[in-house]
This record gives sequence, structure tokens and C-alpha cells, in this order.
Amino acid sequence: MGYRGRFAPSPTGVLHAGSLVAALASWLDARAHGGAWLVRIEDVDTPRCVAGADAQILAQLAQCGLLPDEPPVWQSRRGAHYEAALEALRSAGQVYPCGCTRRDIALALEASGQGKPRHGELVYPGTCRHGLNGKPARATRVLSCNADETDIVIDWHDRRLGAQRQNLTQAVGDFVLHRADGLWAYQLAVVVDDALQGITHVVRGEDLADNTPRQVHLQRLIGLPLPQYLHTPLVLGANGEKLSKQNGAAALDLADPAHALHAAATTLGLQPSSTSRAALLADCVAQWRQHRFA
Ligand code: GLU
Repeated sequence: MGYRGRFAPSPTGVLHAGSLVAALASWLDARAHGGAWLVRIEDVDTPRCVAGADAQILAQLAQCGLLPDEPPVWQSRRGAHYEAALEALRSAGQVYPCGCTRRDIALALEASGQGKPRHGELVYPGTCRHGLNGKPARATRVLSCNADETDIVIDWHDRRLGAQRQNLTQAVGDFVLHRADGLWAYQLAVVVDDALQGITHVVRGEDLADNTPRQVHLQRLIGLPLPQYLHTPLVLGANGEKLSKQNGAAALDLADPAHALHAAATTLGLQPSSTSRAALLADCVAQWRQHRFA
């Protein structure tokens, strides 16, 4: 199959220096492989989306000369695909309704003496696995253990980080795919869309590497092809933390797109010498082709 890559921004704000790195890396990898590059707007987490950010992101990409080869798609219009995947998992007995609040989960973890939150996320103790016990359903969770309740360990390969392993059962637990208020989880939407769009290579920021085992687990359960993964270096802010919309990263200054692209290319370990946008992108493609993450 021919190479198909994508950039999948969440429109929770406009592009900043960190998100441009992921956009540029995914575009370069597609160009270096002679493949197609797609843009998908990941607007499933509607409460966090900012009106108009999608159009601004597309305009910023265009200013940088990063033009998708196919019309962009919006996840908010693709609920039927996620519903079909959830239904398939339901028929296979891999998902169940959960009635726990965050507080219920924290109390259950405390009572069992475990449960340090992982990145602020609680590892679900499986309370509703065998029934709701009269509680109303709040979400649908997918099993993250084998049928005999032994652990599932996910081994996967990253083109930059190398061999990766996570004990999904211990580190994450059964995770949410759909909320009773109708919201789809990123984990489900991303694997369904990567498969339906025929994505062969996922290139994205390293902050998302930790999600990959959950996605590999879903791909295996639903029977979807596994893309290759490359997680790119993060841009750190002055406080040493990852630059993100949440910690107030400034919107990209695109008065001079070549300048912004040069900074993003440097984060990726490239040394473009040209100063005009088109020549700089061509330099980057040539350098990427030679020695980046073959
Ligand atoms: N929408 C996700 C984000 O902006 C990225 C998803 C992905 O590349 O898999 O953080």
C-alpha cells in the first residue's frame, strides 16, 4: 500500500510552535516517502473546541506551505463510524457500561490500597465489569485484560524511540470509549479514522506516545491494520514544560512563515540553509529523506 500520513490537530486553539513541529514532521515524512498527507480536524471533545480554530489552523498550515492532498475531514461529522466500531466491540463482548463517577473510582482505589493517579488519570479498578449494580450508565469502557483477567502487555515500535512496552492492564485499566452524554473518546475516534483513511504512518508529538498502547489494543480488538509510529520531539517552554495550548503557548507568529518553519525544522534535528519558504521546505525534505527515522 502507498504511504498515507496525516496531521490531526484538535481545534482547541490555533497552532503554536510545538504543534507546527508535529505538522511539519508528518508532512515531511509523507513527502520524503512520495506519499499523501491528510489533515483531520479532531473535534470530538466538543467542550474543549474553540469556534473558528479549525479554519485558523488550516489557514496557518497553508501559510507555511503545508497543503493537504485531500479535503480535510472533521471528526464531529463521523459519529456513525465510531458507533459501528463500538457496536462491533459490544458484539464481541469487549465493552461494558460503567456507572462510576470519578469519586467512586478514587474511593474504590483508596479502599483497595492502590491507585496513585497516573498523569492525573485514575486506573479504573474494574468495578462495573460484571454489572452496574443498579447505577445509571455514565460511559462505555473497553476491557484492558484478557478473558481470564490476566494482564495485557502491549509491545510496539516507535521509529525514533525504539522498542516500547506498556502493561495496559496495570498502567491504564479499562478505558472509556464513549460517554453517556454522547462524547466519543479520542482513543476510539483516532483508530477508526486512521483505518478508514488508510493511514499507514502516524507521525505526531511525543506527548501522545503514551496513548499508543491503548490504540494498538483497540486496533487488535476491532481488527484494524496497525500503522507505523513516529513520535517527534517536543518543544519546551521557558518553564521546561511541554509547550501546549493548556499552558498558554503563544500562537505562531506567521508574519515570516520561513522563520517559524526553520525553528520547527531545527527541533526535528534538520539544518535547512535556505531562507525562502519553498526552498526551505525542499531542503528539509531532502535532509529528512537522507537520515531521519528510516
Ligand atoms: N488530536 C490530537 C492532538 O491534537 C492528536 C492526535 C494524533 O495525532 O493521533 O493532540
